[in-house]
Amino acid sequence: MDCVFCKIINKEIPAKIVYEDEDLIAINDANPQAPIHLLLIPKQHLKSIMEINDENAQILEQIIKLAQKLAGEFWIDEKGFRLVVNTGNDGGQTVPHLHFHLLGGRFMKWPPG
Ligand code: AMP
Ligand code: ZN
Repeated sequence: MDCVFCKIINKEIPAKIVYEDEDLIAINDANPQAPIHLLLIPKQHLKSIMEINDENAQILEQIIKLAQKLAGEFWIDEKGFRLVVNTGNDGGQTVPHLHFHLLGGRFMKWPPG
């Protein structure tokens, strides 16, 4: 499939993998927007959060638990972080394979740009 994250999952293109299990992979974002900028990606190719349903919703629990674990490992659990899911064109989504940005290591402004 012509999907950059599927290619990373299938090891067809390189990435800095910080976590991997049967269902999930986490990598360093290639264009980091914060000192810590990870992408938490389900291995199943779901286009966006809009494809979550009763059959696959358990992946959300897995991702939240992975975000907690990685926040601890990257020392941003106490200072805080932002977990972001851009969705669709207005949401700023550029890769149509569901992923969660885990951003930390600096103060995050609100509202986002
Ligand atoms: P979004 O704009 O929310 O769809 O996020 C896509 C993210 O994927 C962006 O932050 C990109 O920097 C990142 N990205 C795109 N291609 C790669 C890649 N090959 N390796 C790592 N991160 C990537
Ligand atoms: Zn994909």
